[in-house]
Amino acid sequence: MSPIQQVVGAVTQYQTGAAALARIQEALRLPAEPPAGPAPLPTAGAEPATLAFTDVRFRYADDLPYVHHGVSFDIPARGMTAFVGPSGAGKTTVFSLIERFYDPGSGVITLDGCALADWDLPRLRSAIGYVEQDAPVLSGSLRDNLLLGNPEADEDAVTEVLRTTRLDGLLARLPQGLDTLVGHRGTKLSGGERQRVAIARALLRRPRLLLLDEATSQLDAVNEAALRDTVADVARSTTVLVVAHRLSTVTMADRIVVMDAGRVRAMGTHRELVDADPLYAELAATQFLATAG
Ligand code: ADP
Ligand code: MG
Repeated sequence: MSPIQQVVGAVTQYQTGAAALARIQEALRLPAEPPAGPAPLPTAGAEPATLAFTDVRFRYADDLPYVHHGVSFDIPARGMTAFVGPSGAGKTTVFSLIERFYDPGSGVITLDGCALADWDLPRLRSAIGYVEQDAPVLSGSLRDNLLLGNPEADEDAVTEVLRTTRLDGLLARLPQGLDTLVGHRGTKLSGGERQRVAIARALLRRPRLLLLDEATSQLDAVNEAALRDTVADVARSTTVLVVAHRLSTVTMADRIVVMDAGRVRAMGTHRELVDADPLYAELAATQFLATAG
């Protein structure tokens, strides 16, 4: 083949590949990587972020029904906001939109008053710590699992986040300390410990906004208290959003956003909402565990 033929061949191959990729993305309904916007003004260090949704409408694909029908809320810097609501209400989708895994069909989402579309994507993502629901711990040592969040974190930073996430007690019990292999998918850790390792990993990146999609598995009393204390500590210096599945998390929230069928139906404190919102009162009566999802 002549060099020209080779180039033409390569381009054709690339086009075929690109078309195939587009088809696979379509089939899997994977979002295309959104284009990066101009970098926002530099923000000071690890200052906690503010966040706002204004009339956000969103669906996962053109042939699927809307998941968010005009969602609006305003979240100040610091403190903990709990998102509650029945399964399928659109709570996890709120987090996916904040991370910009998808862009809304209409409406605006701002972080620090700057539209997400105007943020440089890597900068946006580095500002956010996202702890997914039932976050897996990979194989390897506890140290490996923590440093995934920030390979450059030093020993002091690791010690500090282990204290914040109440994992220092676990560490003391592990035979090889940080070098203990926590097993395939972390099966040697309990569900509550796994989620706290995932939080510790996120905290090592010093996020300005922490998104926590709470594990839906039942936790024992010790793990439940540890999770609650961890979130309370972090919320003193970071803006924390939690998709909450347990009453103990919800009652300590500074504000609660009640979602149902893609809408925000009420906002307030636990005390306010128990009286004001029948759906909230019902969810609280069942300890929120029925809201898994
Ligand atoms: P929640 O976390 O409140 O249970 P989600 O945000 O996970 O709700 O889901 C809201 C709706 O969006 C549900 O109807 C769900 O089936 C749908 N959904 C969630 N993720 C996807 C996806 N990746 N593709 C298509 N539909 C989705
Ligand atoms: Mg969910």
